[in-house]
Amino acid sequence: MSYSPNLLKGQKALVTGASSGIGEAIARALAASGASVAVNYHSEQEAAEKIVSDIKSLGGEAIAIGANVAKEEEVLSMFDQMYQHFGTIDILVNNAGLQKDSAFVDMTLDHWNLVIGVNLTGQFLCAREAAKEFLKRGVKPDISSAAGKIICMSSVHEVIPWAGHVNYATSKGGIHMMMESIAQELAPHRIRVNSIAPGAIKTPINKAAWDTPEAEAKLLKLIPAKRVGDVTDIAKAAVWLASDDSDYVNGETLFVDGGMTLYPGFATGG
Ligand code: NAD
Repeated sequence: MSYSPNLLKGQKALVTGASSGIGEAIARALAASGASVAVNYHSEQEAAEKIVSDIKSLGGEAIAIGANVAKEEEVLSMFDQMYQHFGTIDILVNNAGLQKDSAFVDMTLDHWNLVIGVNLTGQFLCAREAAKEFLKRGVKPDISSAAGKIICMSSVHEVIPWAGHVNYATSKGGIHMMMESIAQELAPHRIRVNSIAPGAIKTPINKAAWDTPEAEAKLLKLIPAKRVGDVTDIAKAAVWLASDDSDYVNGETLFVDGGMTLYPGFATGG
């Protein structure tokens, strides 16, 4: 995949949870499209530094910033570091997320709070900080026709219930309403807020679902396109949502799922 190096020229982007998987691919794609990128990591500093050095070796600009997105003081410090290095923010990709799966009756309060804390509260905290800066700075027409863009990483599980993953599905359902409510509130300020809802994408978060032929065959029954998604499928969507090419798109969830939300069980008559 080749990206246009001028598409996001002069824009400053922050991608949370960017040391692996979808976040890493988005960080690399935004950089290839000309943005300066802050690569947020939680514990994988080495991986984040490697992504930064790869981006720099291709002529891009990047920094790694450690922060737990569920902790307010760490989020505030991350944005401070971003502003010290890049001066401002134009694009926030709220990507960090995790799963702590169990049968509903065995789900501990700790695991409930952890997943809601990272997947939902973490997105709230980062979106709030980015929005403050967008409102303060306003539109810079030579940079973008928007005052700022927020992309929330949701999931098909914002609409598909998921037994054994009640905390995760709840967090993604919450992102749906949070994203639309922020978009409604901030649209008059030329701030765009959208979500991407991936289907099954090959990353560390769901390795058990695709890393054996048996597991992959089972997973493919849920995917009309008959292939498991690649991180670049999501990165391409993120670049589009971050760019002025999607200037009139606001408050939308873009499902990138190979048709997973098409009720595949009904394909043969149900
Ligand atoms: P991943 O495990 O590779 O990425 C998740 C990233 O979040 C990791 O880099 C991890 O270090 C980071 N992270 C976790 N807790 C954090 C915290 N407290 N603070 C900061 N960062 C933290 O998995 P992924 O599949 O790339 O997941 C990325 C996003 O995509 C998640 O929000 C996930 O829910 C969503 N998603 C993934 C799929 C899929 O099939 N892979 C499908 C739908 C949605």
